[in-house]
Amino acid sequence: MTDSRNLNFRNRFIELGPEFYQAKTPDPVTDPYLVDFSPSAAQLIDLAPEDGGNKDFLDRFSGNCPLEGAQPLAMAYSGHQFGSYNPRLGDGRGLLLGEVQNKKQEMWDIHLKGAGPTRFARGFDGRATLQSSIREHLASEALNGLGISTTRSLAVIGIRELIYREKPALAAILVRIADTHIRFGSFEFFHYTGQGENVKRLLEFSIQNYYPDIIQETDRYRIFFQRTIQRTAKLIAKWQSVGFIHGVMNTDNMTITGTTFDYGPYGFMDRFIPNHTPNHSDTHGRYAYNQQSEIGFWNLNKLAKPLVHLVGPEKLEEEIQQYQPLFNRFYREEMGKKLGLAILDSEFTQLVQRMFQLLQNHQLDYTNFFRSLADYPGIPHLENNNGSDELKPWLNHYLELAQREGISHEERKIQMDSSNPKFILRNHLIQTALDKALKEADFSEITRLRILLENPFQDQPEVFEKYGIDSEYYAQDTPETFLGQQTSCSA
Ligand code: AMP
Ligand code: MG
Repeated sequence: MTDSRNLNFRNRFIELGPEFYQAKTPDPVTDPYLVDFSPSAAQLIDLAPEDGGNKDFLDRFSGNCPLEGAQPLAMAYSGHQFGSYNPRLGDGRGLLLGEVQNKKQEMWDIHLKGAGPTRFARGFDGRATLQSSIREHLASEALNGLGISTTRSLAVIGIRELIYREKPALAAILVRIADTHIRFGSFEFFHYTGQGENVKRLLEFSIQNYYPDIIQETDRYRIFFQRTIQRTAKLIAKWQSVGFIHGVMNTDNMTITGTTFDYGPYGFMDRFIPNHTPNHSDTHGRYAYNQQSEIGFWNLNKLAKPLVHLVGPEKLEEEIQQYQPLFNRFYREEMGKKLGLAILDSEFTQLVQRMFQLLQNHQLDYTNFFRSLADYPGIPHLENNNGSDELKPWLNHYLELAQREGISHEERKIQMDSSNPKFILRNHLIQTALDKALKEADFSEITRLRILLENPFQDQPEVFEKYGIDSEYYAQDTPETFLGQQTSCSA
């Protein structure tokens, strides 16, 4: 374990040359303070947990002191936003400090979000709100707890600067750890500015660093695309299975390693409404829950364009045709795990289809439905729900399929409880944490939620006792007033 002065920085991206970024150090800030720190994210870079929040840490990760060995830069990229190409994006407020190599020889990007305006800022202030930073922090750690590939959040550092969105807002810096910050939009940028040679260099760089096992393959560009398709399909299948809605699946928010990236107005499904979007600005529901898999396909088609000259249109087409079958397979497997069923035949398909109709017709809580189902027929919780007339035949069908698996109820329950979270990051839970943080500068609820969601599948009595976590409160259905809540992009 090391401290923040001795991180093992390597700076691979900077070697690509100045067309790829603007070299820039973070702007200094006044009086940085710790909002929350994730010891489990710190482990990724061998940073000692005690280091979080001390003065050295705050000075270095807020930008007040240079981090030894880091060579900060703002990355160039463009991308498709809500279906239209935007040629001018790039890190307007983000800086890649560099990559840290840990003792296991893994490399992790360290990125500050909200570190001051760069040349890509387009007149914006280069800062992030405390609210959006807390939201990203909690969601990153929650998705990781759910076993879903995501960027991590090492810390949120508050800064004493007032910024303006719809109204004055507190500002903060999010310290993000990620496997990569290369997005579909990074390739689009070089393609649409006629820099074919740099598309190729970025591709070689990506293969070397993120898919090194294919480096010797003559067909490696094609395999790179194939891998990105596989990872994207898997990621979105996992989102669907836990009811996560990203909210802004623009191509600058999609990484080439299929990692959940750039949290904005995201949400988790409460009562099951398939066309729900948590993004207040998304009036047409482009990025709604039931559109995510299709949008993954659309975005991959956008990534294919810069690769056309390097791979050839026919090969790209062959690969992209694999996306939907792959997604269907992954999704089916996820649903099998949620239901505790391994035989995924046509009966299973029918059961799942009818289940979604029931969830929708009776507005059942998506998360708690699966959790209760693991107890069935032990605890009659589900039958007491409204809609029990329709539910009963479905439950009978479910039990028939469960019995054909040849495992005991106890075994099925253990399996289901390890796939279906008891706790998710519900809107009202975030809201309580935000209210305390923003109105009272009390960050304890953020810490509590982070700890709870690190392991969302089970109670941890000793930990809960220590942090004052009432399991039943955090597991309950979302209250009516918070249902279907949306967040705006600027929040
Ligand atoms: P995001 O919504 O965070 O994915 O950002 C979309 C684009 O807008 C990226 O190019 C960001 O760098 C840029 N951006 C968003 N907010 C700001 C800000 N406050 N200052 C500078 N650039 C910003
Ligand atoms: Mg973005």
